[in-house]
Amino acid sequence: MSKALKLPIVELPENIDKLRDEVRSFIAEERSKGTFEPQCDSWLGGFSAEFSRKLGERGWIGMTWPKKYGGHERSSLERFVVTEELLAAGAPVAAHWIADRQSGTLLLRYGTEEQRNFYLPKIAKGESYFVIGLSEPNSGSDLASLSSMATKADGGWVLNGSKLWTSGAHHSHYMIALVRTAPLNPENRHQGLSQFVVDLAAPGVTVRPIRLMTGEHHFNEVIFEDVFIPDGSLVGKVGDGWKQGMAELAYERSGPERFLSTLPLLTELLNTIQLDPDRHTKIEVGKLVARLWTLRKMSLGVAGLLEKGVTPSLMAALVKDLGTQFEKQLAETARLLVSSNPSVTSSSAFERRLAEAILHSPGFTLRGGTTEILRGIIAKEVVAK
Ligand SMILES: Cc1cc2nc3c(=O)[nH]c(=O)nc-3n(C[C@H](O)[C@H](O)[C@H](O)COP(=O)(O)OP(=O)(O)OC[C@H]3O[C@@H](n4cnc5c(N)ncnc54)[C@H](O)[C@@H]3O)c2cc1C
Repeated sequence: MSKALKLPIVELPENIDKLRDEVRSFIAEERSKGTFEPQCDSWLGGFSAEFSRKLGERGWIGMTWPKKYGGHERSSLERFVVTEELLAAGAPVAAHWIADRQSGTLLLRYGTEEQRNFYLPKIAKGESYFVIGLSEPNSGSDLASLSSMATKADGGWVLNGSKLWTSGAHHSHYMIALVRTAPLNPENRHQGLSQFVVDLAAPGVTVRPIRLMTGEHHFNEVIFEDVFIPDGSLVGKVGDGWKQGMAELAYERSGPERFLSTLPLLTELLNTIQLDPDRHTKIEVGKLVARLWTLRKMSLGVAGLLEKGVTPSLMAALVKDLGTQFEKQLAETARLLVSSNPSVTSSSAFERRLAEAILHSPGFTLRGGTTEILRGIIAKEVVAK
């Protein structure tokens, strides 16, 4: 096996079960109060400002960040446990998800002291939400072709262009945008890119909804028309945007949400078949659970690397590729095993979860980098090492 494809075997410390129990009790209490109904893909579609604020109060956002920025100085493994419990329960975590997972972490790594002091405490309280500003109308997989441009002005920059497929922009406060700060150099398209925090309420920013065929709204197009962004909004260094953006993508790809989006469906599948599963059903469910367990071990290995300060780009791409195939397979297996009429308004919880999983499935292997792009990254890195 290639030296590049190595993950540490990480065992969770026993005392972490106390934290797991705390999260489970909190979820059970919220469920009994009727605060939320479990939902597949809740980290994208489950928006609840109130729920995010409650998680912030419990110290479950910004968990690994320094206390001086509102964080809690806990380990990546503790964060992993909280995250997997919330996702498995299908809890509404979308509001703060991006800010907690990648924007805040990026600011911690590359931001100025002023930016950290301003943004991180609000994120950790579950009160400040961020979006990802990468894709554009003519730039998806080929991100380096992006053309939104910030031009230097007195005291700041003037931004023009647009971002596409921006999840959650209609109820978020800020975007970390990757834009050009120098004209495209065809010899090296990764040069001349920089990252900025863009205030989505600034004059000249328009957020246009893009509704799904189901009527759901989480996508947007965000248009920038002469938007003034002060100098203090630059993240890291001018021209370092590509390197920083790739580090951000490693956070984006490495978490348990890349294989747990459809887990609430597995719970309902087990509830549905538990009385008398036939041999075929037992085998198919057994295969799913075995894959789930392997992915969890791999994802824990990635959390272990993050704990050591490593940026695990290759392994994050691998876990994301395998994980998103699994999320899709779970929906497909559930559909084939149980005769049903999936609908988001069905009176059966199994049928509601199945409908959510099927409707969201096409996006699993696109968002955060498509399967083909991830496999390209994996192949290149494996050959290089
Ligand atoms: C649910 C969801 C949420 C998203 N949220 C956000 C967000 O918040 N912010 C944001 O910036 N973006 C977001 N995106 C956009 C996402 O990052 C892009 O969809 C993705 O990068 C692919 O780009 P594209 O859609 O333009 O497809 P394209 O790049 O046009 O690709 C089309 C097809 O061609 C294949 N392809 C392209 N290039 C190659 C190649 N070199 N080799 C082999 N095959 C190739 C791709 O794999 C794909 O199958 C989201 C997408 C989804 C589905």
